[in-house]
Amino acid sequence: MQIEKEILALNAYDPQASKPGNERTHHAVERRLTAFGRGAVLFYREPIEAVSAEGVWIQGADGRRYLDVYNNVPSVGHCHPRVVEAIRQQVGTLNIHTRYLNAVVDSYAERLLSTLPAAIANVVLTCTGSEANDLALRVAQAATGGTGFIVSEMAYHGNTAAVTEVSPSSRPGRPLAAHVRTVPAPDSYRKPDEYPGQAMAAAVTAAIADMTRKGIRFAGMIADTIFSSDGVHADPPGLLAPVIAAVHAHGGLFIADEVQPGFGRTGDALWGFERHGIVPDIVTMGKPMGNGFPMGGMALGPDLLAAFNARDKYFNTFGGNPVAAAAGLAVLDVIREEGLIENARDVGRYLQDGLREIANRHLAIGEIRGAGLFIGLEFVTDRESKIPAPETASALINGLRERGILIGAAGAYGNTLKIRPPLCFGKEHADVFIEQCDAVLARISQ
Ligand code: PMP
Repeated sequence: MQIEKEILALNAYDPQASKPGNERTHHAVERRLTAFGRGAVLFYREPIEAVSAEGVWIQGADGRRYLDVYNNVPSVGHCHPRVVEAIRQQVGTLNIHTRYLNAVVDSYAERLLSTLPAAIANVVLTCTGSEANDLALRVAQAATGGTGFIVSEMAYHGNTAAVTEVSPSSRPGRPLAAHVRTVPAPDSYRKPDEYPGQAMAAAVTAAIADMTRKGIRFAGMIADTIFSSDGVHADPPGLLAPVIAAVHAHGGLFIADEVQPGFGRTGDALWGFERHGIVPDIVTMGKPMGNGFPMGGMALGPDLLAAFNARDKYFNTFGGNPVAAAAGLAVLDVIREEGLIENARDVGRYLQDGLREIANRHLAIGEIRGAGLFIGLEFVTDRESKIPAPETASALINGLRERGILIGAAGAYGNTLKIRPPLCFGKEHADVFIEQCDAVLARISQ
């Protein structure tokens, strides 16, 4: 598949193409680019200066408040008082690395592991999803003796050197590294297949055969279990079962990257892989884990960790510090006490139904898909040809921004709206979003 745009180019501000109309924003942009370089990435034709946030709302320096339909990091709600208080209390009590004993850290590890299948009984805490994935690659290499990895065509797994090599969406136009093979993500819209799981498993088997022919030993497959950067593909449930069987049949490990779907977003369960009825060998996580406090982690079976530790030790200065652990505990409490998984399921369905209704009059909407509060809305020039329409997605994103709604794009062509709000998003917020999408699309098509 031809990747049209690098992942960070989606919905990015282009200083060559436009200058902010607002004087204050113009100065804020110049200040940013002067210090961080002209390549620093910002969102929107008219970037937004954010000053504070609460729940699903972000307050702009322009005096407007914006409905957040994009951000999955403040997953239980921006500045959730429980998480803020947990961080505040712990940072005023003790914050050190994990080479000292501390009960908060152990409580968090135990709580987190209790949410995972019994076989996944160890965890290593990091600060980012990239670090967790980088470590997972090392574990898979140590456990299998292999170096070869399989990923989806538009995968994004983070920003370290090793992880960028398994993130084709970060390096369009560049050949894959010799140890990496890609397989197409499932795609109910463009490649409908009666048995997409079997098709993917066959592609995985072929990729393993190809690397073996070239003398590369297979180490494993890493997949975002909702294929978000491939355009959000959650269905059909169970899809990954034949895929993991193919990986195991060839001695590899399956790494479930839960940075996007994890912590309740899919509305089915806490983890995206549960939708597919599989038990991964390694689970990596990040983003929503600390609701904005930098946290990541890798959970796995003790034998795998022991195989890695026989060769290497791992220490992460800030990973799993007591403040992170306190934030992480508060996040798990809030997800449970506020019923956020159920909310993701119910509001997600409501949102999909509402979008289907407006799709009756907006023929540029090709498909609406997803799980829970992770929905992809794909735009096409027409429904017969299914030619991707990134310009429609972009016009909608910028039109919604003008109306106080924040959203972004995904997929190989950047023509899919990535609907991924904090999990406390209610039906009243869904109504605002649907109504405004309807209005902007009506204006665009005029
Ligand atoms: N995996 C996936 C699926 C992601 O979406 C991301 C971040 N967008 C990462 C890993 C990397 O996480 P981080 O930016 O915290 O390093």
